Amino acid sequence: MAAECELLAKCGFFKKYAESKDLACRGFIRQYCRGDGQASCKRKEYRQKHGSAPSDDMMPSGQFMSA
Ligand code: SF4
Repeated sequence: MAAECELLAKCGFFKKYAESKDLACRGFIRQYCRGDGQASCKRKEYRQKHGSAPSDDMMPSGQFMSA
């Protein structure tokens, strides 16, 4: 099993949605934040590119949560 993402503690998406009951959201957290997908997380990519964190509502897939 993959280690958790090293950004977990400071990731706005994770902080905001870790307790979410939304199935898609939970799937993303399982797949990315706590799984192998973390290497291809778009939030991480954004951070590297821009030097700052993206909106909390940007998902690891790069799409945005709809309110
Ligand atoms: S959304 Fe991306 S950066 Fe944030 S904790 Fe999950 S894998 Fe890490």
